Amino acid sequence: MHERGITSQIEEDKPRDNCAVVGVFSRTEDVSQIALEGLIELNHRGQEGAGIVVSNDRRFRGIKDSGLAETVFGVKHKGPPRLKDSFIAIGQDRYSTSGSLEEMQPFVEDGIALSHNGNFTNVRQLKEEHNLPDEIDGARSDSRIGLAVINKMPGTPEERIKRGILRLEGASSLVISTLEALYGSRGPQGFRPLTIGRLKNQAGYVIVSETAALRLMGAEFFRDVEPGETIRIDDSGVTTITLDKRKISQCIFELGYIGRIDSKIFGIPVAEFRRRQGEILARHLPEWAKYVAPVPNSGRGAELGVIASEIARASGIIPTEVFYPNPYRGVVRGPRTFILPDERIKAATEKYSVIESNVEGNDLIIVEDSIVRGSMSRQVQILRSHGARRIGGMVAFPPIRHACGYGVDFGTNELLASKEEFQSYGKPDVEKIRQYLGLDYLYYISNNELLEAALGNPVEIEDFGDSDFCGACFTGKYPTPIDGVIKKS
Ligand code: SF4
Repeated sequence: MHERGITSQIEEDKPRDNCAVVGVFSRTEDVSQIALEGLIELNHRGQEGAGIVVSNDRRFRGIKDSGLAETVFGVKHKGPPRLKDSFIAIGQDRYSTSGSLEEMQPFVEDGIALSHNGNFTNVRQLKEEHNLPDEIDGARSDSRIGLAVINKMPGTPEERIKRGILRLEGASSLVISTLEALYGSRGPQGFRPLTIGRLKNQAGYVIVSETAALRLMGAEFFRDVEPGETIRIDDSGVTTITLDKRKISQCIFELGYIGRIDSKIFGIPVAEFRRRQGEILARHLPEWAKYVAPVPNSGRGAELGVIASEIARASGIIPTEVFYPNPYRGVVRGPRTFILPDERIKAATEKYSVIESNVEGNDLIIVEDSIVRGSMSRQVQILRSHGARRIGGMVAFPPIRHACGYGVDFGTNELLASKEEFQSYGKPDVEKIRQYLGLDYLYYISNNELLEAALGNPVEIEDFGDSDFCGACFTGKYPTPIDGVIKKS
């Protein structure tokens, strides 16, 4: 039996990242094709557009368009951009709430091509300081302004990059190309990940948002770009050209929600982090719990499955599934042409069915990553209508109460855990949220427990500021000022 609307509620109610970036430097390999492989592997970070710019030592050539990377370069265009003797390629997968082609990356201006993952937080001030217009070449995003700021600096392209990067605050993992060299840069707080890979047979190097992309790019892990570090890649290898050391605040959502389960993010295997989340949640099960099931959502079901399995292993309760995702629905349409997020949500509404025999008469624990707006109430209603006896919710992240200023879009201004009616003494009242969601039990992982999942051992700290991680969306304590943020799209 199909339950229309389950997926729309689920997918709409999730944090979303802005994008993935890739870069390739090789004198012998097809850099454009390798960049494309990277973008396909990183499409979980952004599905609304993809672009690649290649360069030889004379000029740039690029293609960017709306859709998944395979759609852009396999259906809409005849492959990735080609340029004789090209030896550098950079690319981006983009998530956005608007389909404007002008906002898609990489951007190219004055001998520099740039792809950005994150959100610059001092753009308003920089626009005023450099007298920049609101719109440049049809784009209004922080990333486009960031490139304009770099190009306001004096000197050669590399000198401009070195100076400009030091002016840009906030979350930035950048892949940049000049006509001579490839650059990778991670903002000083290290909010977003960035990794260097080495192509097999010493054929060159790649830069990627996540390690999961390396294998199909024909590369192996070399090292992460350090927070505050800018590297140059050319024929002589990898060189650090700037290092801006400050307090590190890596986005903890990268580890558990944004990053792919086969990635290592900030040096931590995502799969291990997920298992530890499950182990921690297992400590807090109600005694009536009999079955534990992940709640499917936008391709993350396997990751929640890891948490659910670990809860089951650590507690002895039985792992199960309560929703069946139909893998064949949507397949005949082939690769999607460009669709806006809302349309994508609508297109997926019939993808899940309830597995009634696993639900009827059972005492269930359902596992979720986050409760943004409260779609779990809809899932609970559906499970109850199929005869579930008791339903508990276990949430693998603490209550999200504040918007992110660093590039993660929670898709709504109405964060459930920040609403007045769910507060007691200035904090989210979990009992009130439980009642609203219609659950028999609700547990959110705590801030300290989330850090324990990241670090592998128990911690007792006041807030995320005492660690190398950002948790501002839980605490409201932003590690850097965010008053200069402009919306990504
Ligand atoms: Fe990540 Fe939350 Fe910090 Fe944003 S506010 S960078 S989502 S931890």
